[in-house]
Amino acid sequence: MLNQINLTEIDTSQAPPEEETKRQYYFIAKCRESVAKLQKEAGRPLTFHVQTFGCQMNARDSEKLVAILEEIGYQQTEEEIADFVLYNTCTVRENANQKVYGHLGYLKGEKKKNPYMMIGLCGCMMQETKVVEKIRESYSFVDLVFGTHNIFKFAELLYSRLQSSSMIIDIWDGTEQIVENLPSERKFPFKTGVNIMYGCNNFCSYCIVPYVRGRERSREPKAILREVEQLVKDGVVEVMLLGQNVNSYGKTLPTPMTFAQLLREVEQVEGLKRIRFMTSHPKDLSDELIEVMASSKKICKHFHLPLQSGSSRLLQDMNRHDTKEQYLALVEKLRTAMPDLSITTDIIVGYPGETEEDFEETMDVVRKVEYDSAFTFVYSQRSGTPAAKMEQVPEEVVKERFNRLLTEVNEISKRRTGRLEGTVQEVLVESINAQDASFVTGRLENSTQVHFKGTEEEIGTFRKVYLKEAKGFYYLGEEVAE
Ligand code: SF4
Repeated sequence: MLNQINLTEIDTSQAPPEEETKRQYYFIAKCRESVAKLQKEAGRPLTFHVQTFGCQMNARDSEKLVAILEEIGYQQTEEEIADFVLYNTCTVRENANQKVYGHLGYLKGEKKKNPYMMIGLCGCMMQETKVVEKIRESYSFVDLVFGTHNIFKFAELLYSRLQSSSMIIDIWDGTEQIVENLPSERKFPFKTGVNIMYGCNNFCSYCIVPYVRGRERSREPKAILREVEQLVKDGVVEVMLLGQNVNSYGKTLPTPMTFAQLLREVEQVEGLKRIRFMTSHPKDLSDELIEVMASSKKICKHFHLPLQSGSSRLLQDMNRHDTKEQYLALVEKLRTAMPDLSITTDIIVGYPGETEEDFEETMDVVRKVEYDSAFTFVYSQRSGTPAAKMEQVPEEVVKERFNRLLTEVNEISKRRTGRLEGTVQEVLVESINAQDASFVTGRLENSTQVHFKGTEEEIGTFRKVYLKEAKGFYYLGEEVAE
């Protein structure tokens, strides 16, 4: 745990402090007292389970929610049936919503059997008014509902629920606040995500994120650097700088700073070995960023550059503020500066109004750029977004195009991924291999996975590995002596 205030020094008989970080630690202490009483009553430790849906921003938020629940005295379990179950939801596609309702249905019966059981919902899906109405009406057994803007208030909201017997709902339309130094429990001891900004101002026509994550606000560079320095002291060697659009970092700061300037600062942190970042919007990709990346020893030579569509007509409709030509020119600049750069992307198939010609433009970009890999999505109608009101492309047409795209992307990816076969590369070992415990799994700088014989002690360390064989999307390797 980092930057932690000592809970035993907090006088919970006093009124809660005003300063937000201290206030939340106060409520962590209050919850701790309540949960201790419940555990005594139950005669056993109370458990919690946090399930995260969606993106790395959500995963990072869940690391904070897990840490707060641990501080309160709950014990984490991988079992979905726990005394406190929290779903950190996503709403970027409709099926994400359906998944959550499915899980809630499953918990309803379980809750009847356990008087100590509580259920919480947070994250992007809860920012949708009609969803909260549905929870209130059809899932009244849920105990706590909060959104993306007040994640930091979790302990305070949980304390309110522990003091009452009715559902607590607290959804904010937005916030300017960025609350620092709350507890956080990293999933991996050697790598973690670091938020550099929240929200998005781009309003791409198909995307619900600006409506559920609010306006862009950047963290102070000092706070980011302090966090990275602390993380490195704590054993972290790789950070992923996170934002919906990291390229517009710093615009809202009292003293503006560019993302490239921030990267230069982060690069200076002694002991940090690898820097990654996600996600970059092509329209804000600067020459300065390309230069900083190309001259850096720590910034990984992997660039995730969402395309969405290769058709300039459709990109305009999507409100992406870039064209096919501009995108290809950016890729050329990136490849000129870093010839062996790994480029990955996001592509949507079936955006309303997409014609066969538009789709062929997408395929043309895919063939020209030769992505190491691509996240390919079927367009999902998100109510409240401009695109949702447009005429939808017939499902069977979308499916057929999606399959064509997938075939092309996978073929190119296999070829691209094989290019390092027969070379020795540095791998950060991340885990024991899921299929064979005598193997470990790690990642190259360009994020490609490598499996090779190894032991648990190697997790979190860098190894020199001979890439013996490319296997489509990963390598089989052999460790070589340093
Ligand atoms: S840049 Fe566009 S696609 Fe990305 S989060 Fe913002 S609105 Fe959504």
